[in-house]
Amino acid sequence: MTARIHEFLRNRREDGPCVVVDLEVIQKNYQRFARALPDTRVFYAVKANPAPEILRLLTRMGSCFDTASVQEMEMVLAAGATADRISYGNTIKKERDIARAFEMGVELFAVDCVAEVEKIARVAPGAKVFCRILCDGAGAEWPLSRKFGCVPEMAPDVLEAAHRLGLHAYGVSFHVGSQQANTQAWDQALASSADIFRQCAERGIHLSMVNLGGGFPTRYLKEVPGVQSFGDAIFCALSKHFGNRIPETIIEPGRGMVGNAGVIETEVVLVSKKAEDDEVRWVYLDIGKFNGLAETMDEAIRYPIRSERDGDELVPCVLAGPTCDSVDVLYEKEPYLLPFSIEIGDKLLIEGTGAYTTTYSAVAFNGFPPLKSYII
Ligand SMILES: *Cc1c(COP(=O)(O)O)cnc(C)c1O
Repeated sequence: MTARIHEFLRNRREDGPCVVVDLEVIQKNYQRFARALPDTRVFYAVKANPAPEILRLLTRMGSCFDTASVQEMEMVLAAGATADRISYGNTIKKERDIARAFEMGVELFAVDCVAEVEKIARVAPGAKVFCRILCDGAGAEWPLSRKFGCVPEMAPDVLEAAHRLGLHAYGVSFHVGSQQANTQAWDQALASSADIFRQCAERGIHLSMVNLGGGFPTRYLKEVPGVQSFGDAIFCALSKHFGNRIPETIIEPGRGMVGNAGVIETEVVLVSKKAEDDEVRWVYLDIGKFNGLAETMDEAIRYPIRSERDGDELVPCVLAGPTCDSVDVLYEKEPYLLPFSIEIGDKLLIEGTGAYTTTYSAVAFNGFPPLKSYII
């Protein structure tokens, strides 16, 4: 919570939940990444928060962008960045979208199988491709599934196919899982990457780049290591596995770039019990899984929640959203401790909500509008 956000909310007159994002925090985050990994280029993962003001700020600061669709590329171009600063990092692309991206000037593409390489070779001749490898995501609060990437043993064949089809076999990528609190999480994937570099070299293919992905955590309820600790651990792992031939590297922070820059203001709609003698109270908010808090799915992300009654005695509460869908419950398996004195009409602040909130908000489920966003 920054003084600027506090001031903004104090003066806000409109009704309904909203997220307020402070650009000054994002500016500091960008500088921290640049300092912690000085030889690494930053590709901001646009899906975390694609607000035009954020994309313009990062463009001015020299950031590049990881995108997953032509629409995201258009947003980046509209913010003033040139196409050579865009990576098409989604491993699942329609051939006509690859063609469209290539026409726009994008030349860097992710792949994880030969069929995807063939699409790119057909419509984006000579483009650079990097092969994504699977990573187990251990230690991450929002682990990524097996949806993206191939086993490391398969990567040399995928990259060789790219080379044979006239593409530039450029490197390897992986993602250690989002909200990754373990600074050592990059080590194993970098060992695999170095191995892939060696195997490709034996086939006469000289890779240049390792894409270290995202995963850098933001602070929710638990303390997390700072960006510098991640930078040091990654540099250590790079040296260990690549010796003095450290490749070109890029990172793709999403959550770590914008998460702590945002605060959601929400209103308590109802406080009730299911039975007179229940210990646990139900607290219903005007925001839920469908208008911004999708990452509470499986209670994965636990946001810090503040109220003006902090300091009063805490009681366990089930927190739920406002819609008529029964999955719209935020924390129930592990109830959330909130002040006993909380009442209908109170405003609560949900911190660490600059990433993965607006983009996960439905258009109008049950008529509730998408999460309103103010970038200040
Ligand atoms: C979502 C995504 C990211 C950002 O991940 P964070 O954990 O938010 O840093 C980076 N790279 C790719 C390919 C992604 O899909």
